[in-house]
Amino acid sequence: MELIDREALKTKLEKNIEDLADKTGFFEGIKLGYESAVHFVEQAPTVEERKHGHWIRHNNIIACSECIWDMYWEERNTELNYCPNCGAIMDGVEK
Ligand SMILES: [Zn+2]
Repeated sequence: MELIDREALKTKLEKNIEDLADKTGFFEGIKLGYESAVHFVEQAPTVEERKHGHWIRHNNIIACSECIWDMYWEERNTELNYCPNCGAIMDGVEK
């Protein structure tokens, strides 16, 4: 998956609408197409970027740096390259 910037895309489409503002006929149809595209961009679902974390060890407790207070894990879970609770990718640097 590649994430894109919704506002940047809308700005680009709206610039094209602006450029076609005084056009008629065929170009008016294109302008309506861009207006429709802006609507679809606004309606598109959002996704969250995946967090990056690392395993934290404190006494007998092992936790994910991103959802530390939610769950504690056993040693075998640290072999995973992601947190089973929040999905964070475990490639962050331990601080
Ligand atoms: Zn987590």
